[in-house]
Amino acid sequence: MKAIQVHNFGGPEVLQLEDISDLSAGPGQVVIQVRAIGVNPVDTYIRAGLHAVKPSPPYTPGSDAAGVVESIGEQVTRVKHGDSVYVAGSLSGTYAQQCLYSESQVHRLPAHLTFEQGAALGIPYATAYRALFQKGQGKPGDTVLVHGATGGVGTAAVQLARAAGLTVFGTGGTEKGRSSVSQQGAHHVLDHHAADYTDQILALTGGTGVNLILEMLANVNLAKDLGLLAKFGRVVVIGNRGKIEIDPRATMTRDLSVLGMTLFNTSDEDRASIHAALVAGLENGTLKPVVGKEMPLADAAHSHEAVLEPGAFGKIVLIP
Ligand code: NAP
Repeated sequence: MKAIQVHNFGGPEVLQLEDISDLSAGPGQVVIQVRAIGVNPVDTYIRAGLHAVKPSPPYTPGSDAAGVVESIGEQVTRVKHGDSVYVAGSLSGTYAQQCLYSESQVHRLPAHLTFEQGAALGIPYATAYRALFQKGQGKPGDTVLVHGATGGVGTAAVQLARAAGLTVFGTGGTEKGRSSVSQQGAHHVLDHHAADYTDQILALTGGTGVNLILEMLANVNLAKDLGLLAKFGRVVVIGNRGKIEIDPRATMTRDLSVLGMTLFNTSDEDRASIHAALVAGLENGTLKPVVGKEMPLADAAHSHEAVLEPGAFGKIVLIP
């Protein structure tokens, strides 16, 4: 089968399409025939050798995909040959025509969704769910600012928050992105490059600020976030690409909490709960992954450049 291989950490050019051996499922494992692959920013950090997760080269990147179950190992009961599934996490890497998973990483893809939409689920939707509910303790009636609502995680967060009864503020850097944020259900949409957008958020909340912020670029926004939170407010740091100076006093006067998270730290129990909620949301139609760009697997290097460019619009997906 064809798979992307990384022999040395480095720039996007290290992503090479090669022929490698077919996979077979051991006990408790599942082999998927991959139809679409989700490209996440973390794939680029790992490829560059800049992430705490450092696979031993040569390795196949990727943790998100959707496809059809090709074979199952002994003791696998949740899926069978021919089932449509999405996957979150992988034993072999998803940038390939075939992938190997443990049974717990495979989840049913409802029939009305495309494989491309299924590939948009794993990291983005699980991250958004964990940040909103498990870390941020968001509840119906809360106000939430999705600071960076146009990309994979942001789109998911807007849909999840809206369906759960929160009042949703979403920001985007382009007109096209903001229009999508509005379509996904945000009540208020703002431009995170506008000089006065924080004033607009405060005005829209009657001066009190929001209860929860999901932050996609903390090194730019964390200081501003502390000024946008209501008393007892929480900011969940999801994305960060540098350093920032903040005044901790702001956290004291209004009992604010700054919560870091990485999806890799999620317990098996919390992970199972997240995917049960996501499958329910897919089935009842409240969750509809947005695919912004499709590329052939051979263009994996270009996808790694595109996923870090500004002007996000839904999810970038590779087709093997
Ligand atoms: P993505 O699809 O590339 O989206 C990036 C988002 O950041 C876009 O909405 C973009 O908006 C927004 N952004 C750019 N400049 C911004 C600014 N000044 N203020 C606020 N937002 C801004 O990436 P993603 O998959 O959604 O992931 C988002 C971030 O979270 C990445 O850094 C990723 O590495 C990280 N992440 C972390 C975890 C975790 O476990 N902690 C899990 C998944 C992702 P525009 O392009 O419209 O300007």
